[in-house]
Amino acid sequence: MDSPDNNTQANIPPVQLDENSRFKFKCHKGVSCFTQCCRGISIMLTPYDIIRMKNRMKISSEEFLAVYTKPELLEKTDLPVVTLKLLDDEQKSCPFVRDDGCLIYEDRPTTCRYYPLGVASLSYKEQEKEGFYFFVNEPHCKGFEEDCEWMVKEWRKDQGVDIHDDINAEWTELIVRKRSIPKNIRLTEKTKNMFFTASYDIDRFKRFVFESTFLDLYEIDNKTIEDIRSDEIALLRFSFRWLKWLLFQEGEFALNKTEAAKRQEKIK
Ligand code: SF4
Ligand code: SF4
Repeated sequence: MDSPDNNTQANIPPVQLDENSRFKFKCHKGVSCFTQCCRGISIMLTPYDIIRMKNRMKISSEEFLAVYTKPELLEKTDLPVVTLKLLDDEQKSCPFVRDDGCLIYEDRPTTCRYYPLGVASLSYKEQEKEGFYFFVNEPHCKGFEEDCEWMVKEWRKDQGVDIHDDINAEWTELIVRKRSIPKNIRLTEKTKNMFFTASYDIDRFKRFVFESTFLDLYEIDNKTIEDIRSDEIALLRFSFRWLKWLLFQEGEFALNKTEAAKRQEKIK
């Protein structure tokens, strides 16, 4: 699985595909290239990917980020993201690849599910137009020689990537929107750290919400508080809404006026 960035860097215009575009592809253990695409790759991880993978490994988000990811700044956005950290072997293998396939197949990341397609909104940095798919062309991939036809929308459903996209949708929108803002508008380090924590480190974000004065500072109804306490996905969606407020001062977050006034007094 090659990095979509390589296409970008080479400035090769991608063939733009939509939901109804058709293509022939099949990947199975009998292909001569089996698991080649899981080596020498660059895979950007989404917030929901981290939740699926850390739960699969039965470790905290903090531990998962420390062991399995590499921090990067996403070009044109100034936003911190993470990519999968590869092994230091000759082939730069994914830590989850084995001779018989992916060790965490049911919980594999969004990019792996989409392959051999890429998604413009996250991957294709030089394109202004968003919302299309393209082929991640790799000469070693024999899957295109198989006689099995798909529509893009069928492929997305079959690979379970529609669920990932639905959960990540508000986060993806933030990235797309931030990319369209002029480069000279920079984020503070504090905002970048908040973006990182709220996007990727769900266990730390939960502590931030429930063990700091966060819930005093904002007007948040009791049902939402109960939902985000017991449901990780509800907490993740909540974190995206909070990031929208943090980055663009938009959305449903309202400051508790009494608490905000108290804080202002302290600053004076
Ligand atoms: S057919 Fe393509 S996707 Fe399947 S293992 Fe080979 S390189 Fe990877
Ligand atoms: S997570 Fe699984 S599918 Fe994705 S690159 Fe690693 S081994 Fe391959």
